[in-house]
Amino acid sequence: MPVLVMKFGGTSVASLDEIKNAAKRVASEVSAGHSVIVIVSAMAGKTNELVQWANETSPLHDAREYDAIVSSGENVTAGLMALTLQEMDIPARSWQGWQVPVKTSSAHSSARIEEIPTKNIMDKFSDGMRVAVVAGFQGLSETGRITTLGRGGSDTTAVAFAAAFEAIRCDIYTDVDGIYTTDPRITEKARRLNKISFEEMLELASLGAKVLQTRSVELAMRFNVKLRVLSSFDDKEPNIGTLVCSEEEIMESNVVSGIAHSKDEAKMTLISVADRPGIAAAIFGPLSEVGVNVDMIIQNIAEEGRTDMTFSCPTDQVLKAEKALNGSKDDGDINFSHLVADTNVAKISAVGIGMRSQSGVAAKMFQTLSNEGINIKVIATSEIKISVLIDRKYMELAVQSLHDAFDLEKVT
Ligand code: ASP
Ligand code: MG
Repeated sequence: MPVLVMKFGGTSVASLDEIKNAAKRVASEVSAGHSVIVIVSAMAGKTNELVQWANETSPLHDAREYDAIVSSGENVTAGLMALTLQEMDIPARSWQGWQVPVKTSSAHSSARIEEIPTKNIMDKFSDGMRVAVVAGFQGLSETGRITTLGRGGSDTTAVAFAAAFEAIRCDIYTDVDGIYTTDPRITEKARRLNKISFEEMLELASLGAKVLQTRSVELAMRFNVKLRVLSSFDDKEPNIGTLVCSEEEIMESNVVSGIAHSKDEAKMTLISVADRPGIAAAIFGPLSEVGVNVDMIIQNIAEEGRTDMTFSCPTDQVLKAEKALNGSKDDGDINFSHLVADTNVAKISAVGIGMRSQSGVAAKMFQTLSNEGINIKVIATSEIKISVLIDRKYMELAVQSLHDAFDLEKVT
């Protein structure tokens, strides 16, 4: 029987009633002839509570015990889901990560999945079991300790199972009915996309469209796992959601598929640094050593051997960045005159694989912002993305006008 992976996020298993509702969806896939692997998250809010308990007990906690604590929310939902299915006369049982076992690295609270042996669960499917319910987000390290995969990690568990079991698809049930052209809270013109490519999704996920954990999309792309994002609250038929798939499966790609925004980016400028070989390395080396994620970078034209260097990084890393730069100010003679942090910015990005073959996208984006009187502070581009930093107060306006300019209302 073909294997289907179904993942239910925290809001989809938030109460016993929601678990029943989810179990009904599983039941209909069982009747359609699938062997189902259900991956569950903890009930909504549970993981936050557990994280808080761990922090309150020990601010500088032992990471292994932290994982033992925060992984427990998923154990409860896995057991409850298996029981609910059994009540519906469906042969089902639960697995915790260590029982499979989901083998991971030992980087506690951000462990990577290394291997998922399939034998254990496959044997049970051969014996007549129809549903394997697996606790998401958790695994087992080489040293025999419980690990977790980072917040939102059960998406990654689901994709990893779909890859290991060569599932026909990985359905991610959540509280939105798919991936949108932009945030529907910013414009009512936002539309659900029927399909989106892995690469576009990756850009959107890392740009703050928080529907899927970025790592899960990377994994899906690597193993070509068809991912579907759909709502567990929507009873209209068909509930098709958005298919995240390889580019080859998308006949006509959109020039721009979505406009993403993020408020969590800050702009940092080093005023007057020496312009000579080794300077960029002297600046960005120390930043990477302390784990600052630099995104956009611009170096201005030099005058009299001095230049300004601007970069962006997440707002919550500004202090870390300042500390690292002030600390290494005199090594390698970066000797900038001062460092200016601007946290009142927002990043707006247009994403689309069609950009590869179509010119003029950047020009249109800049013209649209200019028509609204919005000043662009920093620009960065990749093959399928153009990002700009602007004043945060214009964020909504920028998203709305770009959504209009690229006709996203009509995109499917
Ligand atoms: N329960 C975990 C979290 O809240 C994992 C997940 O839901 O994906 O981050
Ligand atoms: Mg999630």
